Amino acid sequence: MKLLSRFPRHFGLSLRVRLLLGIVFPLLLAVLLTMTVVLATIEQRAEQRMQQDIELIAQAIQLPVSYSMERDRRGSVHQALESVFQLDQVYGAYVYDAEGAQIAAVGAVRPRQEPEIVQDITVTGEDETGQYEEIDGRDVYSHYVALTDEATGQIIGWLQVTRRASDFEEHLQQIQQQMALGLAGGTLLVILLVLFGHHRAVGHHLGRLSDTMARIERGQRGVRAEPDGPRELSQLATALNTMLDAIEQAEQEIQQRRNTQLELEERLRHSEKLAAIGRLAAGIAHELGAPLSVVDGRARRVLKLDGIDQSARGNLEDIRGEVQRMSHIVRQLLDFGRASSRERRSVSSAQLASTARGQVQELAVERSVKLAVSGEEPAPELVVDPIRIEQVLVNLLRNGIQANGVKRMELNWMSHANGVEFQVHDDGEGVASADRTRLFEPFFTTKTVGEGTGLGLAVAHGIISEHRGWITVEDSPLGGACFRFWLPFESPELPVNDDTETEQTEEKA
Ligand code: ADP
Repeated sequence: MKLLSRFPRHFGLSLRVRLLLGIVFPLLLAVLLTMTVVLATIEQRAEQRMQQDIELIAQAIQLPVSYSMERDRRGSVHQALESVFQLDQVYGAYVYDAEGAQIAAVGAVRPRQEPEIVQDITVTGEDETGQYEEIDGRDVYSHYVALTDEATGQIIGWLQVTRRASDFEEHLQQIQQQMALGLAGGTLLVILLVLFGHHRAVGHHLGRLSDTMARIERGQRGVRAEPDGPRELSQLATALNTMLDAIEQAEQEIQQRRNTQLELEERLRHSEKLAAIGRLAAGIAHELGAPLSVVDGRARRVLKLDGIDQSARGNLEDIRGEVQRMSHIVRQLLDFGRASSRERRSVSSAQLASTARGQVQELAVERSVKLAVSGEEPAPELVVDPIRIEQVLVNLLRNGIQANGVKRMELNWMSHANGVEFQVHDDGEGVASADRTRLFEPFFTTKTVGEGTGLGLAVAHGIISEHRGWITVEDSPLGGACFRFWLPFESPELPVNDDTETEQTEEKA
């Protein structure tokens, strides 16, 4: 997740702004250009129409004015001019004779000089024209129409009808304003529509996606993106989820490997520690074995002599008893210190259990403990060092029989996970949880001095480890302790390292 934070949070324009700049503004520009062209056309048409209005007005009074001119009725001419002046569009109306001299005028302004145009069109022979010009300082549009004699067709004068140029400008300004307003409204509407569309189609989903990523970055590792919205975004969300799942799985695997490694290191350290203690114990046992055998041998010999009084005999028996106890301790030390010396062979789980039971039977009867032995049938076979495994079972059974308050014990076996598990249950007081971690350490005992050596479980642990198995303690459904150990169906052989010398010395004695 640190990867995400390496990217700057804002490294450019937002998608919304890009959308506006890349699509909306070029679109509006195109609309603006089109509108300018349309406006120019409309302006042109409007101007033409307004010019045509004046043209039509001029043509409408052309005949009556010509008629009055023919008959030299100036009053009628003036009247005709007055009548068109009533119209809104008309700013002024003037009549000239054939030479261009003004003979009648109606309007806000009057031309000071006779218009040159009259001379010009007389020369060119046209009978109608229009133009923008300035009359008395005002900009106007004038339309000139020739007044002709009805009988001969001769030009007898000119009629000029004018309109203010500002009329055109005002009209055009109005059109421009309307179009600008329309454009502004349209632009606003388009921008709003684009923003709304962007939010509905993309922005909303992108926001949720980046929210999810921010939550993951803050450490909420279990959060996943919702794969909804447009296809591309839902594909992106799915890809993100797949990536996160893969990362989580990889992290879990790494953690698992780390845990296994730590466990292995711990076991290795423990084994090394036990091996060191074992070597020390074996060394001491080796040195004590011979003198103990000698003491016991001598005591036995003296006991065989005649004439020993009763108290001396008692003392000698005591010496032998203590020597036997010390020999037991020495044997346990030797067991603890040596690696398996015997070869592996195939043996049934039932056979191992029943041999072990036979070895503790007497003690069980003595302590009134009922011992039940049962297991999976046919009993699974194991390739192990049978003497050593029997020793483990004997140590566990003996501990149970000797434990406080035990009246009932069970020894079971069952096969699972490519091996066989043995369970030794009792109904005693069980093992305090504080003691459980130290139980398999050598010399850990809760028994009084002389009662226990604290080596029984350490020896059992060593033997199980040699066979690549495991041993653990927990609460038993019977109410006391339950020792469980598991052995693979076939345990690899260890290099031979037997301490035969000590055993031979004992035998000799
Ligand atoms: P020892 O029996 O000589 O004390 P062990 O290594 O065999 O040495 O046992 C270590 C300790 O484990 C014992 O002192 C005892 O406190 C405890 N223990 C072993 N088995 C049992 C059991 N079945 N119930 C209760 N405590 C037990």
